[in-house]
Amino acid sequence: MKNIYVLGAAGSIGLQTLEIVEKSNEELNIIGMSLGSNDVLNQSIIDRFPNVEIICLRNQKSLKTFQDKYPNIKFVFSDQGLIEIAKYPKKGIVLNALSGSAGLRPTVAAIESKKDIALANKETLVMAGDIINQLIKMYHVDLYPVDSEHSALWQTLRGEDQSDIEKLVITASGGSFRDLSREALNDVTLQQALMHPNWSMGDKITIDSATMMNKGLEVIEAHHLFGLPYQKIETIIHKESVVHGLTYFKDGTVKASLSLSDMRIPIAYALYYPKRHVYESSLELTNLSFQPMDFKRFPLLELAFYVGKQGGLLPTVMNAANEAAVKLFLKEQIKFLDIEKIVMDTVHQFENKMEPTLDEIITTDELIQNHILLTYGKR
Ligand code: MG
Repeated sequence: MKNIYVLGAAGSIGLQTLEIVEKSNEELNIIGMSLGSNDVLNQSIIDRFPNVEIICLRNQKSLKTFQDKYPNIKFVFSDQGLIEIAKYPKKGIVLNALSGSAGLRPTVAAIESKKDIALANKETLVMAGDIINQLIKMYHVDLYPVDSEHSALWQTLRGEDQSDIEKLVITASGGSFRDLSREALNDVTLQQALMHPNWSMGDKITIDSATMMNKGLEVIEAHHLFGLPYQKIETIIHKESVVHGLTYFKDGTVKASLSLSDMRIPIAYALYYPKRHVYESSLELTNLSFQPMDFKRFPLLELAFYVGKQGGLLPTVMNAANEAAVKLFLKEQIKFLDIEKIVMDTVHQFENKMEPTLDEIITTDELIQNHILLTYGKR
């Protein structure tokens, strides 16, 4: 039996993880989880997993009600509660499915308490990839990707020698607006942006897919996960989301990893690793298409390559600007194309600093996000 901690259990990845655990015939066992601010959903999740030992609630307000109702569970709350779960003194793997920069500190805390990580929170690596890589070496823990493209690449790299890799290719569906020209993007709505053609995901990542920022974050994530320079990481448009990642080797061989666009596959791969579990899924191969990436159409992807190569605090700045801009777009306070503009302006105005500490990264993230929310948000 493997012990699991699920951070972000009430989100899209979290709920799919809970489903995998329920169907695992007790091979997987949840020790702790963090929930969101919807108490009806929270209640239904707790009722499905009454033996969980520690639960983090988003807010303090319902803490007493839940604590009285479930006296055998330890309830904690807010950011500090996430750290308590990460540090809970029982061995296990932490599946981090938090959204945005909030995922960074709990990842660090979990590594420091010698827990392996299944990482769905790509922002952790975008902001602090160098520090995370040092920490996982120092504490001898493993970090497994739970991002479909990176899970695919990880699978193509199993048993391979790093020095044999020519390049990695990450596929991109193109998101909700892939068939629209840049001019047509002026008037798109939030509802349109939230309709992803292939994947059902959380709001933030769905918007990030439409701006191609998601692919940019994934390029930086791949750089840190697989230890390759940006010159060896490429992206390609693949509308069907069947091929998730390809590795080109120096002998001319290319290995690709294919599956349905179903996040339960990469989640379970990370949780069961190194074993594979049984999952009924039939993939039909029909008319797969590939097109070169258009950096003019998706300038945020080009920016991400630039920012990744610069390193230092710049990836944190780009990520923070994007996170705040997406929050404003989700509240319909800015237009879709404003996201790009805010991110690009913020990155170009920032004076970079190399080798930042974890505290500097977290402080910069907060400063940039607050600045954007105050400057562009409607009060
Ligand atoms: Mg992905």
